[in-house]
Amino acid sequence: MGFEQFGIVSFTSQTKASPFIEFLEKGKLAGTRCKGCGMSYFPPRMDCFHCLSSEMEWSEITGKGKLISYSTLHYAPTGFEADLPYTTALIEFENKMKVFGRLSKEIKESEMTIGMELKYSIVNLPNHRIIYEFKRA
Ligand SMILES: [Zn+2]
Repeated sequence: MGFEQFGIVSFTSQTKASPFIEFLEKGKLAGTRCKGCGMSYFPPRMDCFHCLSSEMEWSEITGKGKLISYSTLHYAPTGFEADLPYTTALIEFENKMKVFGRLSKEIKESEMTIGMELKYSIVNLPNHRIIYEFKRA
């Protein structure tokens, strides 16, 4: 999985089982939290670069988030051109988890404002592809 392009790429549930995919299949997003220092990670990491612990636990992302920043893309990786333009965003959730992803096309560019409340939505696509996007909370 290419976590660096997270929210832009889609995931296939046929790839080898990963807790992240299992959460997605249940309609949930999850990151990881360090048991050592409490730092949260999304995309999930299996080791903590803050305290170097590798004692991580999965942490479901819940509730509403607030839009921190966003950027509308007019170019996309091969295979995603048909989706253009789309908006990637960083959202902070109630448990301090910062989540990167894309905004639903239901939200017009003129309606996007820093601080607006969003929730995530898991979308099942054909061929077992799963993506997530953010909608108005
Ligand atoms: Zn840590």
